[in-house]
Amino acid sequence: MPRELVTLACTECKRRNYTTTKNKRLTPDRLEIKKYCRFEKKHTMHKETR
Ligand SMILES: [Zn+2]
Repeated sequence: MPRELVTLACTECKRRNYTTTKNKRLTPDRLEIKKYCRFEKKHTMHKETR
């Protein structure tokens, strides 16, 4: 089962803060996770980007 590398970008400052892996068959939708943005020093929503 391939786990593909995806990048998570902060929705507020648009910086790409994290990379993670996901199984595209189990998670076909774009990931949306609340994570700490170290540039803004707060938690923001991070979305999967390419
Ligand atoms: Zn940010």
